[in-house]
Amino acid sequence: MEAIAVSKDFKIGRGQIVHAVRDVSFNLYRGAVVALVGESGSGKSTAARLLAGQERLTSGTIKLDGKPVEVRRHDDFRRYKSQVQYVFQDPFSSLNPVHTVRYHLERPLKLHHGKGANTDTEVATLMEQVRLTPANHFLVKYPHELSGGQRQRVSFARALAARPTVLLADEPVSMLDVSIRLEMLALLDDLRQRFSLAMLYITHDIASARYFADEVLVMYAGEIVERGPAEEVTQQPAHPYTQLLVASAPDPDNLGSTLRRGANGTRRQGPQQIRAPEQVATAGCPFSPRCPLAEDRCRQEDPALLPITATRGAACWRLDAAAPELVPGLPGGVRTTEN
Ligand code: ADP
Ligand code: MG
Repeated sequence: MEAIAVSKDFKIGRGQIVHAVRDVSFNLYRGAVVALVGESGSGKSTAARLLAGQERLTSGTIKLDGKPVEVRRHDDFRRYKSQVQYVFQDPFSSLNPVHTVRYHLERPLKLHHGKGANTDTEVATLMEQVRLTPANHFLVKYPHELSGGQRQRVSFARALAARPTVLLADEPVSMLDVSIRLEMLALLDDLRQRFSLAMLYITHDIASARYFADEVLVMYAGEIVERGPAEEVTQQPAHPYTQLLVASAPDPDNLGSTLRRGANGTRRQGPQQIRAPEQVATAGCPFSPRCPLAEDRCRQEDPALLPITATRGAACWRLDAAAPELVPGLPGGVRTTEN
């Protein structure tokens, strides 16, 4: 799947426009995971909804298998919808409280693939694939009778029922108890391998992106500000914002970093609770108001994503100061947008 210069604006009254997603491009390949990382409000879910065909593009193109997708117009849009599945953060709100697990799985099987003779077998297979066994024990249950982890397994199984090639997983573990997150990510990884899924993994937790993804895209105020191989971006971040994200995930090997408990048992603030600013139009780099390295140019011109290596890039005028070891030989600044 390809997202090519994809943008989405929302009108929010009084003529104000939120640039939720701005000129975002990336590719998803079968069997590989791309992580979309950023704070709440940075545009991650909007990007996923655009890919899922749930939202119209303001501009740009989305292609699947080389074919442009025209949301809600193509006859094969339904086929597209079954190929591209979207799993939400909160399995409680995405499952219907009045229906059993069986209903949740049978419905997409019938919808996307007709009245197959072996619905029972397929349902049982799905349950095994997400390790909800014995299947018969769980199939008769209602969402409220399941734990958070079990509900999320049901939503994975429901997504798989459509036999997708692309899975968009929007903060799939962030509502779950810290103790089961690793197990759930391992399950997702198993499903990725087994079905050769192209996966977009959305998270505010850059530590889990390192563990789980091949490529990392860091999003801020609707823009990709840094991208590259997961290991490189998380171990040697170039953009000041990525550096902040990495620094505020204090225990990089602990996937529970964003749900640490304070001494009084309350949740301490993690990156999820820090809201990014509204994406209203600003002339300069969107991160400049928070950036310790910002200078005049940063407040006036929005930097384009510049290549650092063949597989890495960052959108920052101050890369020379932010990551001198990554951009040697560029005294006094980085390249301008013209070259
Ligand atoms: P994230 O998933 O990274 O938290 P979202 O994609 O949900 O971010 O939101 C990005 C920005 O777009 C936010 O400023 C949000 O308020 C705005 N936004 C999202 N959906 C809508 C909508 N339907 N109408 C208006 N603004 C929206
Ligand atoms: Mg979101």
